[in-house]
Amino acid sequence: MPIRLLLCFQFGTPVERQNELLARAGLVLFFAGIIRRSAVLAVAVLLGATAGRAETAALPVTEIASGIFVHNGVHEEASAANEDAIANIGFVIGDEAVAVIDPGGSFVQGSALRAAIRAHTDQPIRYVILTHVHPDHILGAAAFRDDHPDFIGHAKLPGALAQRGEYYLRRLHSALGDEANGTEVVPPTVLVSDKLDLDLGHRRLTLRAHGPAHTDNDLTIFDQITRTFWLADLLFVDRIPVIDGSLIGWLKQLDELTEIPADRAVPGHGPVSVAWPAAAEPERRYLAAVAHDTRAAIKAGIGIANAYRQVANSERGKWLLFDEYHPRNVTASYKELEWE
Ligand SMILES: [Zn+2]
Repeated sequence: MPIRLLLCFQFGTPVERQNELLARAGLVLFFAGIIRRSAVLAVAVLLGATAGRAETAALPVTEIASGIFVHNGVHEEASAANEDAIANIGFVIGDEAVAVIDPGGSFVQGSALRAAIRAHTDQPIRYVILTHVHPDHILGAAAFRDDHPDFIGHAKLPGALAQRGEYYLRRLHSALGDEANGTEVVPPTVLVSDKLDLDLGHRRLTLRAHGPAHTDNDLTIFDQITRTFWLADLLFVDRIPVIDGSLIGWLKQLDELTEIPADRAVPGHGPVSVAWPAAAEPERRYLAAVAHDTRAAIKAGIGIANAYRQVANSERGKWLLFDEYHPRNVTASYKELEWE
């Protein structure tokens, strides 16, 4: 029911409309998974309430490479019709420190991720990396405030948060009620405009800020020791990519990203670990089809409202949530391509 309410949400002013349309692309994806899962977490928190926050149930995580743990946001039985998926989030443990890669979608989820970290190490949590503005990835940041970490984001993340943060919080409270309590927008304290290395103690993470692609504030993380490439939402596997930055920019980024050798990659949505760069090919194929067919629709004089019907139909059936996201992807792409 909250999903339907969200889809029916009417926006305030024309000026805000485009941003909010794009914003809710991330938001719907977020709410789709958290609603059912939050019930489980709520029970866990209630069970631990008498003993305090330390008793919060740990989020299930998988160690995909030595010291790298990922929570899988996607249920195996996920389909276009169900609402069970949220982002892949996790953490990396060095000899002296821990880095969180996306604190999750709410204070409750961030707390559960923190409990998972404490189940594996006592090392201080020095860094909380916010891969991009979407709420399913970063609204859990307040759960790490008492650790006094550096909150690290793309140089354009503060602007995106200023534009959308309050909206994301409003919708979270509207959909989850008390379950959203404690959730805050936490702005980054360290900004990345190009590259940044983090030393976790005999373990170096290289962060890279990207040009407009999935959003205009995407970060990737490369673990040098295990050659694990954490792409967050620059890589969607099985679930249809959401275009909230630049279609052409994303294709360009993929050309560069797939040149980087890695032993495995972590997508923002999909399995916790995939082969690289092979796992990027379906995404590249989809984005290329959208670009090709949208240009053709514009050239043929087809209006923006109907263009999606003729764009990338070859991709239907190959992605989860295709019908939910494809029309808005085409609308965003049409606006990007119509004046080129
Ligand atoms: Zn995203």
